[in-house]
Amino acid sequence: MWLQYRQPPLKYAIQRPQKKICYAEFPFQDRCGPLTDSYAAYPVEPQFDLVFEKSPRIIKDAFCAVDEIRVVKNYHLTGTVAFVRGTTIYFDRQKLFYLLLRKNEEALPPTQYRWTWLSDESRYFEDGSDLEMVLKFTEPNIWGLRYSFASVLIHELGHIIDTNAAFNSRPNLGFFHCEFAHQALNKSDYQSRNALAGYEAIFSDILGVGESSERLRDLDEAGFNSFYGRNNQFEDFAELFAAYIMLEHFGVSYSITKQDEALFDLVTHFQQPALQRKLNIVESIVNYHNLTEAERQAFQADMLACRGDFTPSALPINGK
Ligand SMILES: [Zn+2]
Repeated sequence: MWLQYRQPPLKYAIQRPQKKICYAEFPFQDRCGPLTDSYAAYPVEPQFDLVFEKSPRIIKDAFCAVDEIRVVKNYHLTGTVAFVRGTTIYFDRQKLFYLLLRKNEEALPPTQYRWTWLSDESRYFEDGSDLEMVLKFTEPNIWGLRYSFASVLIHELGHIIDTNAAFNSRPNLGFFHCEFAHQALNKSDYQSRNALAGYEAIFSDILGVGESSERLRDLDEAGFNSFYGRNNQFEDFAELFAAYIMLEHFGVSYSITKQDEALFDLVTHFQQPALQRKLNIVESIVNYHNLTEAERQAFQADMLACRGDFTPSALPINGK
């Protein structure tokens, strides 16, 4: 699980991500302005460039496919941190600054990495104030990367990869479309096996208000990496992709504990049988550049046919 992914140095004749950032008052405003002086202390541009520089090649390719990164006001009012539309990534300005604020995340109260709803004022869990998120790092963060920011950005870049015809022969359906097909065809199977089985349409129905934190144990054993990933196959892929990159590439893991007892642990979660077919797909995508043409064709054929009862059969997985 802790394989280090080292890629050979590559020459990229591309724009740095910071050149693609547009600061705008409104999402569809034509004109981009400079970052206002009052925010000058936030390392927006260096952090975008740092994620690019330190990421595996598939992420660099996704950055290349991005036309613009729009930092706009007031999306947080709808609960949105960031989203992708076409080849534009939108970030809510205030949420972005909030993510970037957290230097030295190893030493922070560990409630906020990725799942901001685990904070004390969580309205999702009745015992939210008893829950703690414990971050674990396999190596020191010598680059000064803001992990919370990186994980949100990599989630959005995951959407770009998921719907990119260069990697996915069914870009409009996403890599996990077989999961959705399986769910539609085996409804009873999906509904009975686990309370966290199939996809649902609305996040607020997936995780309500004042729930028991026991649901985190269900999540630990489920074929989903987060509650949010249950929205649909696209969010499912983006969530798992981001967690995979953060764990396997940046060495960032986490547990959620209640009185020192782990309810959810990312490393054991990644060993769950229900997650393996999705992880196989994610690993294949992350290693896509190392596959031979024949291996890519086998992968795409499996994807098209949802072969092997939705377990891709011909996946050449790095070392596994
Ligand atoms: Zn998303």
